Amino acid sequence: MATLLKAAPISQQIVDDLTEECSNLKKKGCTPNLKVILVGEHPPSVIYTRNKKKFMENIGAECEIIKLPQDVKEDEFLKIINELSEDAKVHGLFVQLPLPKHLDHIDVGQLVPPQKDVDGFHAQNLYQLMKGDKGDKALLPCTPKGIMSMLDYADIDLNGKNVVVIGRSMIVGKPLSLLMTNANATVTLCHSRTKGLKKETQKADIIVAAIGKAKFIDSSFLSPQKDQVLIDVGINHDENGKLCGDINEEDVSQSCALLTPVPGGVGKMTIVSLGQNLVAAAKRQMEN
Ligand code: NDP
Repeated sequence: MATLLKAAPISQQIVDDLTEECSNLKKKGCTPNLKVILVGEHPPSVIYTRNKKKFMENIGAECEIIKLPQDVKEDEFLKIINELSEDAKVHGLFVQLPLPKHLDHIDVGQLVPPQKDVDGFHAQNLYQLMKGDKGDKALLPCTPKGIMSMLDYADIDLNGKNVVVIGRSMIVGKPLSLLMTNANATVTLCHSRTKGLKKETQKADIIVAAIGKAKFIDSSFLSPQKDQVLIDVGINHDENGKLCGDINEEDVSQSCALLTPVPGGVGKMTIVSLGQNLVAAAKRQMEN
């Protein structure tokens, strides 16, 4: 039976560390400050931004949600981002996606200066990642960073491991592949055009599913000869409307060594990584 690698104890440990770091920074006159720009009232975005604010305030940071109307003019939107980018009291800044149609041509990842880019999508941060950085210089994309924290907590050394990442998105699969490569894993990045996906997954020590298809990975993707580690990034709903991942947990649990559950796994780590990025950004800006 697989061990479940849950986020709760990992996130608690990181929250405790962040709370202490925020308290130390405050003593030096610097309270980590995050501004979140929310355009319109897209219901999931309202919930996500509220959760981020709650998390940041819980660790002792400041977080303001700047609500802009759905029909905000492009000039006005850019002016606000510019002002916040130049405001020395603001350490982290991000725009909640999706943006309304009239703004969605804007590459928001490039608007926010790299040192305040707590989402980790600015070209300079991604370039550092490509150069081999593990987060010492760059602010890393949050979900991949959260996965690395989970592996680290579980004492899973990536050195020399074969990893198969399924899904090549900019927010998960691609940056995660780079991070794992930087940690000396041999990474195979798979996607919908990969031929012989099962052959690839059966060879892997670690499989990461970031596909967006409910319970797609079952035991037929696994090797009976290996103690495989399965990381489930997917957030989906099954046929009964129940939250589930890309991995069929019930089916694989007898066939793998370790598995991250959904809910209660990777999803919880994304916001924790955002908190780590904010505190790192505040520290670096204070030191410079
Ligand atoms: P995308 O839709 O951007 O990417 C999905 C990837 O899966 C694509 O690369 C696609 O290939 C690949 N894919 C689709 N079908 C198959 C298939 N049959 N075989 C192999 N590969 C396939 O998704 P995201 O990366 O944004 O998200 C993936 C999942 O992770 C979603 O469920 C999302 O909700 C969840 N998620 C969770 C987060 C968290 O915090 N836990 C954060 C972000 C996402 P191709 O490129 O060829 O189309």
